Amino acid sequence: MANIVAIVGRPNVGKSTFFNRLVGQRKAIMDDESGVTRDRHYGYAEWIGKNFTVVDTGGYVHGSDDIFEESIRKQVELAINEATVILFMVDVEAGVTGLDEEFANVLRRSKKPIYIVANKADTFQRGHQAGEFYALGLGEEVFPISSQSGSGTGDLLDEVVKHF
Ligand code: GDP
Ligand code: MG
Repeated sequence: MANIVAIVGRPNVGKSTFFNRLVGQRKAIMDDESGVTRDRHYGYAEWIGKNFTVVDTGGYVHGSDDIFEESIRKQVELAINEATVILFMVDVEAGVTGLDEEFANVLRRSKKPIYIVANKADTFQRGHQAGEFYALGLGEEVFPISSQSGSGTGDLLDEVVKHF
């Protein structure tokens, strides 16, 4: 069985930035298949000699309330079904939002390992604020990272690849 890491979370928290940092140019060929509108991107990554597939979920959350709940549910269920490990990304600049809570409520159904990734922790001070995400009552641990600078990502990946 392939090792799959799915990145989920509301729009704009930095999922794609982190995905690009992890996979670099190793995006999966299937992204180039024409005629299919994909809500997910796949890529290959490696950390301390372990190979895995990374899934960047679209995070599209459409307008009205019921469609929006449906979008979250679909995105998260796809991730839960195919992932070995789930990374639930949030934004330390924004703090806990209502949408984060909606995601957390759906993610709670999963038996898979979940880590909360508190992105945009660009400074020590911001990293310190990441503790507030424990209030979501979900996941094994909160990891402050900066997808832009890469800080914190090593500690997170050390933990993730223990599952492979
Ligand atoms: P997505 O919608 O979750 O895929 O988020 P994106 O990867 O598209 O990023 C949304 C915005 O957040 C962009 O303007 C990014 O440049 C910015 N961003 C992503 N990671 C970081 C980070 O670590 N620090 C800061 N300050 N901004 C970030
Ligand atoms: Mg994105």
